[in-house]
Amino acid sequence: MTKSFYRNITNESLTGKILDQKTCEAILRSRQTEILPLVNAAYEIRKKYWGNGVTVHIINNLQNGLCSEDCHYCAQSKSSCAKIEKYPMKSEGEILREAKIAYQSGTFRYCMVSSGRSPSEKHVDYLVSLIKKIKKLYPIEVCVSPGILDEQSIRKLKQAGLNRLNHNLNTSARYYSKICTTHTFQDRLNTLKVARKAGLDVCSGVIFGMGESVNDIIDLALTFRKLGVASIPVNFLLPIPGNILKEPKNLTPEFCLRILCLFRFLNPKSEIRIAAGREIHLRSLEAMALYPANSLFMDGYLNTQGSNRVKTLRMIKDAGFTIVSEQKLDDLLKKEYSAQRSFSLEDSAVRMKSAKDLHPQKQICS
Ligand code: SF4
Repeated sequence: MTKSFYRNITNESLTGKILDQKTCEAILRSRQTEILPLVNAAYEIRKKYWGNGVTVHIINNLQNGLCSEDCHYCAQSKSSCAKIEKYPMKSEGEILREAKIAYQSGTFRYCMVSSGRSPSEKHVDYLVSLIKKIKKLYPIEVCVSPGILDEQSIRKLKQAGLNRLNHNLNTSARYYSKICTTHTFQDRLNTLKVARKAGLDVCSGVIFGMGESVNDIIDLALTFRKLGVASIPVNFLLPIPGNILKEPKNLTPEFCLRILCLFRFLNPKSEIRIAAGREIHLRSLEAMALYPANSLFMDGYLNTQGSNRVKTLRMIKDAGFTIVSEQKLDDLLKKEYSAQRSFSLEDSAVRMKSAKDLHPQKQICS
């Protein structure tokens, strides 16, 4: 592609235009579209709206497993035999203690997720009380992800001070029945529409690598644009043993970057978050994802571990970014280094080669 191709996609995105289908396809699958100029073109947009800040999110899995739904990618679903620690709702004391740790770790937004199709009235009231207490105790934003909600519940949560409601669409309307049979794309979309109507910011995530087509990826990014979704966590399917969908399809580190760039061009002002699977699917290109994306999850995901804090914070610092927090990135790193002293020594100390390293052939022959 010529330099003008990359310049045009940046300009169109910055001036509020929507890229046409052919350009979106070229971003995702044309070998003529080179990855470095593409990432740079996406970075221009990220820089304009988000500067060099990274918002760090930590998830609290309030209630794990025991779900009536059959989402094929989810270890908590009734169709999964993944070995997970199932438990009912955590106590208030436990959740507040975890919120304190998240705040002290530089978290910008604290995400409380609970399994299940839709919360009971009692569950919603519990969330209302938690939101009020957390917001009173710590200057952090709060997001909840309790499933399908009606208008009344959404209004209660908003009045309690909720900053964002999460409800993931995960895949396109066309592909949805391939990943779940117990509810529909429309069920999920309705919750997002009601929340938007109530004036609440919404967060809605996607999962790639489930067999969706390039058109499904483009359609999803366009659906979010139409809805005005404030935040988009981009997940890449984790190969969890026991799940129906356990073999990620067509994901390479470069393709993951292309997806993140496409989401940035089509949703220029949205917070785009590198979510589950960043470590295993972006691999050595992980830091490059911070150029289109401006947010990430730290401390792992719902049931799976991720990079440790030092690795995550250091990646942000090494790539020249900073964190959006009252805490300073350098101070947090120092704190984490001292808490994980053995890791820092092992990771940054110069280790000398041994005689065996220097004479590998000699070892074999002797
Ligand atoms: S994604 Fe949510 S609704 Fe679907 S199975 Fe998992 S916990 Fe249940």
